[in-house]
Amino acid sequence: MSADIIDGKVFAAQIREKVTQEVRNLKSKYNLVPGLAVVLVGEDPASQVYVRSKGKQTVEVGMKSFEHKLNVETSQSTLMSLIDKLNKDKKVHGILVQLPLPNHLDEKQVIDRISPEKDVDGFHVVNVGRLSSGQKSMVPCTPLGCLLMLRKYHGSLSGKNAVVIGRSNIVGKPMANLLLQDSCTVTIAHSKTRDLEKTVKQADIVVAAVGRPEMVPGSWLKDGATVIDVGINRVDEGDKKSKLVGDVDFDSCQEVAGAITPVPGGVGPMTIACLLANTVVACCRTIDCPEPTDLVL
Ligand code: NAD
Repeated sequence: MSADIIDGKVFAAQIREKVTQEVRNLKSKYNLVPGLAVVLVGEDPASQVYVRSKGKQTVEVGMKSFEHKLNVETSQSTLMSLIDKLNKDKKVHGILVQLPLPNHLDEKQVIDRISPEKDVDGFHVVNVGRLSSGQKSMVPCTPLGCLLMLRKYHGSLSGKNAVVIGRSNIVGKPMANLLLQDSCTVTIAHSKTRDLEKTVKQADIVVAAVGRPEMVPGSWLKDGATVIDVGINRVDEGDKKSKLVGDVDFDSCQEVAGAITPVPGGVGPMTIACLLANTVVACCRTIDCPEPTDLVL
């Protein structure tokens, strides 16, 4: 058996198309253009690539992009003042601070300074609380992208056994919450889980968000399981070459799984598409107009 490939690139393009239409709608009906501010501190090469890509796609869907690139030595108070300014700016509907921040900066304090209504990453403690208590919130982009792919592939997820490997605040925990809200029976596995293989074997849905290259082999999977691979790991191939791999061993897993996301081209493209969707939603909420129903949960 060979698994269906869940193509995140195709699906992300469909979301961007819907976002583009919604941006046109907001402009013509309400004379409003959604704006996304991205703050980058320092010159981490991977972060620079992400920020460039976010800015480019923001403009492509017709929204305004505001990039704030700050020196690596920027102080906590300067960064907090910038957040305060962006919170007040009516042209800015979404604020994203690119993580990780340099070590001398307090990430948690920075994230919690962002107005929850503009927190398009969904990391603010108020949005975490709203999500976990089933209220309208800003949903973190990567888990949101995973959930949308699962819904698109399966339709209803009700009653399925889902195992999320990883318990980070930005992926694992919100992912588990979202699956629970879609009536899955959810297990969260992590570094202290005793028998990971046995846990994974029970799952109709496996979401791997660990950061360990090709950790999950096909032999751990239940026949026909759906595998969402969040991991992005760069591995050396010798001769100064490297490649990106996920947290699951794609070749052996696709022999057993019913469906699987590739790396690259699976979860990655969905994350930015969901960021754009969240910015449109945040913009709609400022004027209380109907939110695009197929972009939100
Ligand atoms: P993290 O380091 O914050 O969390 C990793 C989690 O994995 C931890 O909860 C830990 O308990 C668990 N873990 C570690 N070793 C384990 C083991 N042996 N068995 C079971 N669990 C184990 O990482 P994160 O921020 O959640 O990211 C996870 C991966 O997802 C990384 O590869 C990251 O690059 C990738 N990621 C991708 C996207 C995307 O857009 N595609 C977005 C965010 C993160």
